[in-house]
Amino acid sequence: MRIADRIEAEAVELAVLGVRDNGTEFNMALKAEPGSAAGTFRYYAEALDKVAGEVAPTPPDVLGLVHRAPVGVVAAIVPWNFPLMIGAWKLAPALAMGNSVILKPAESASLSLLRLAEICAECGLPDGVLNVVTGRGTETGAALAHHMDVDVMVFTGSGATGRHLLAASAQSNLKRCYLELGGKSPNIVFADAKDLDQAAKVAAMGIFRNSGQVCVAGSRLLVERSIHDHFVDQLKTHAEALRVGDPLDLNSQIGAVNSSAQLAANLRHVDQALSEGGNIVCGGQQILQKTGGTYMAPTIVTGVTRDAALFQNEVFGPVLSVTAFDSEEEAIQLANATSYGLAAGVWTADLSRAHRCIAELRTGVVHVNTYGGADMTVPLGGVGQSGNGHDKSLYALDKFVDLKSAWIQL
Ligand code: NAD
Repeated sequence: MRIADRIEAEAVELAVLGVRDNGTEFNMALKAEPGSAAGTFRYYAEALDKVAGEVAPTPPDVLGLVHRAPVGVVAAIVPWNFPLMIGAWKLAPALAMGNSVILKPAESASLSLLRLAEICAECGLPDGVLNVVTGRGTETGAALAHHMDVDVMVFTGSGATGRHLLAASAQSNLKRCYLELGGKSPNIVFADAKDLDQAAKVAAMGIFRNSGQVCVAGSRLLVERSIHDHFVDQLKTHAEALRVGDPLDLNSQIGAVNSSAQLAANLRHVDQALSEGGNIVCGGQQILQKTGGTYMAPTIVTGVTRDAALFQNEVFGPVLSVTAFDSEEEAIQLANATSYGLAAGVWTADLSRAHRCIAELRTGVVHVNTYGGADMTVPLGGVGQSGNGHDKSLYALDKFVDLKSAWIQL
């Protein structure tokens, strides 16, 4: 609770540290980073005395107990897009369950997590319980992944790194690995949606916030053919109205892309989409070059087919792929036609259809008539190549305990 209070008291400073590291627009950083991190510490602090073991329903001459024991040493490797928020999602439940943690921030976004470690120490967390090691993934991260004394590895990042971690586990001590990976999340708009303009506005923010560098970004719009052209026009209007600029300017709505390498990769994805028959509706290029920053215009590409790279692969940038569909069945098939399964959106006024979609979509979370909403009470995690394990909610605690049974003959 003290850690949560201190994060809140230093929210502006922590947000600015994050903005300087990763280019996220300040207002969003303030809410998503210290705001969320404080809430996460408070949630798990409050959960502590509600989590208990069990008495098993054994025969009367035996007492069976199920304990939750700390696993020991947890290594947490986190990405650069929301370091404080994602770091807190790993740290707070791991500490709450009585473990020690070694946290490795991304090489391009370490500052806010280093400050968080200082805050934890200043709040009285004993030395050695939380350790932060900075460095490159292939060196520091790999050393943790191969370490014989790490019991559980929790990770958020790319599928490629996730594969390295699983291999390292197999080659070392078989540590449990929980992977939160990427996505190519479908946002499905049916013609019967109640307010199409609102859907277009939310869909635009669903992909373009934080320059598309959001794991659950609604990067694959599936729109019913009868409203396709009208909806794309509305989307274009909202995309072009977004104010991209200096992340520390309070008037900006979208900040910078994390790095020039990420920007170059985004532009390569757009080029490939065009070569595969896609059409650019807006954006598609770097902007504000004179500032020296790595800004990219919100980009919409229509006519993206199921086999196209832009349909299948995560960009992790402000690039929206648009595909038309003719029926609910086709929408579901298209939505499920990638190797990912992190998030999805469904816009419809038909409650039965919404429930059918929730049941049929192969994904970790389905947003209905909104996109991207969540709080600490619901888990976040994927299926398929979006990974396993879940952050947030009481379910996250399971990653950080070993079940230990006792069988007592009476
Ligand atoms: P990344 O995998 O390159 O890096 C993530 C972390 O892993 C960094 O700390 C990095 O240093 C470390 N790392 C890299 N190579 C390593 C190795 N060989 N061994 C050990 N550690 C290594 O990913 P990124 O570019 O930082 O983040 C973007 C990715 O993260 C995207 O795919 C995005 O979708 C995903 N992401 C997922 C979620 C989620 O909750 N599912 C949330 C945010 C981001």
